[in-house]
Parts: sequence; structure tokens; C-alpha cells
Amino acid sequence: MAWFTRQKPSLDVGSVSEDEKTVRTEGLWQKCDGCGQIIWRKTVEENIFVCPKCDHHFRIGAADRLQLLFDDGAYEVYDAEMRSSDPLKFVDSKPYVQRLREMEEATNLPDAVICASGLLEGRRLQICALELKFIGGSMGAVVGEKITRAIERAIKERTPLVIISASGGARMQEGAISLMQLAKLSAALMMLDEAGLPYISVLTDPTTGGVTASFAMLGDLNIAEPGALIGFAGPRVIEQTIRQKLPDGFQRSEFLLEHGFLDAIVKRADMKAYIANALAFLAD
Ligand SMILES: [Zn+2]
Repeated sequence: MAWFTRQKPSLDVGSVSEDEKTVRTEGLWQKCDGCGQIIWRKTVEENIFVCPKCDHHFRIGAADRLQLLFDDGAYEVYDAEMRSSDPLKFVDSKPYVQRLREMEEATNLPDAVICASGLLEGRRLQICALELKFIGGSMGAVVGEKITRAIERAIKERTPLVIISASGGARMQEGAISLMQLAKLSAALMMLDEAGLPYISVLTDPTTGGVTASFAMLGDLNIAEPGALIGFAGPRVIEQTIRQKLPDGFQRSEFLLEHGFLDAIVKRADMKAYIANALAFLAD
């Protein structure tokens, strides 16, 4: 019988087996995808998950995004209980309902977006952040409805809107219903535009498919983090279709900025100040 709980993992591995050594030390160090260096994970964390050596921006979750942008990390979450009804009774390698349940357990979220309101440098606004870890941040009926409600809230309360994308695109388990969200969200954003309220789209690594093809590219400002993969179809599909080799850095933020698809590339550390400045310009 265990009378005690295990202590936190420590570096003291003197009296444990090889297996336990792996378990105990794993997660303390992180390899950077940018420069290949091994960095102490805590250093990366303290640097808001940006490599201190090469400025590579690691992927972060939706809750962390909101935490970074809202004043004092304080915000109110809406529609937190909304779940997919599995309209197609879809089964691929496993039933969609089971996949949803597992994802909810793994991420502690009922679907792939958190919609919240709060203050950003004193200005009230709506922020929706997509969670990549929930079925690839894919957009089904729940993501579509929750973001639409955030847009409607922005119109009702006359606040700006920010959407932070991290998504593989439409959710295939909801078939045409997920594709309908592209039209629904585009129409809702048109209403926001007609109300004269600003919308800033923040594209992070990766933003692809139906999300790029709808709300992620419809901002009054479309801005991205450095080095983010942004596109509609993947490079392999495009190469096979046009039978040409694609240039280096194709579909990365820097390439898109150079070719006029983005308005700016903003580092994570500068994001909050940038959005505050942009809103002062667009909303006042
Ligand atoms: Zn690095």
C-alpha cells in the first residue's frame, strides 16, 4: 500500500534503474527544431517558448495564447460546454465520438477552440484561440458556432476581435458540415466589417486548409508569428499538381509576407504590444 505520493522528478538519479532514469530526466531538456541545439526546457518556458539561441517559435496551446495576451492573464470563457453531436455518425480508424472523448480527456477542452473576452492593455475585446492538440485544431460545427458567437458578441458589445489560428483545416469527420463553417464564418465577419469593428487575424504554426481559406485570411490585418507554416494544400500535393519544384521557404511566414499575403510578421514577445497599437489605430 502506498502511503505517500511520489515527489516531483528530480535530477538525482543515483539509486534508480535505467528505465526510471529516462522517465525522471525526460522533459527537462528540449531539442530546438530551429537550430538543433539542446536547451534547458525551463529556459525555453521562461522565454515564452521561443528559442533563446535562434528565435525559433515553439508551438503553444490555446490557453497559453490567451494568458499571454489578456491583461494579468485574466479572461472570461464562453460556450465552454459546447460539444459536437457527431451529425454523420462518422467512423474512421475509430468512432468519432470516441475520438472526441479521448481528445477531451487529453486536452481538457470539449473542442478545438477557446473563445474568451477580457482586456488587452485596458481595451475590452474578444479573442478566440484554436487548440492544435485537439484533432489538429480542426474546424467543425462547434468551432464554427463558437467563433460566430464571439463575432456576434463583438458586434453587440462593440469590441474588436482577434482570432489566433493553429489548425490543419476543416474537420473531415464532419464532412460537408465542416465546410459549411467557411461560409458561415465569412458571412459573420462581413457583419463585423459592416459594423465598423476591427478584426485582427494572427496566424501561427501551422495554419492550413479551410481555416486559411476562410477566417484566417479575412482580417483587417493578417499577421503571423515568424517561421509559421501557412498554406492551403500541403507542398507535396501542390508539387504533384503543378509538376514543379517549389522554392525554398515556400508557405512560411517570411515568404508570404514578401509576396503580399501577410501584413506583418510579429514575434511572440511583441504580439501584445503590436495588437494594442494596431487596435488604437483601427478602433479609435
Ligand atoms: Zn533554436
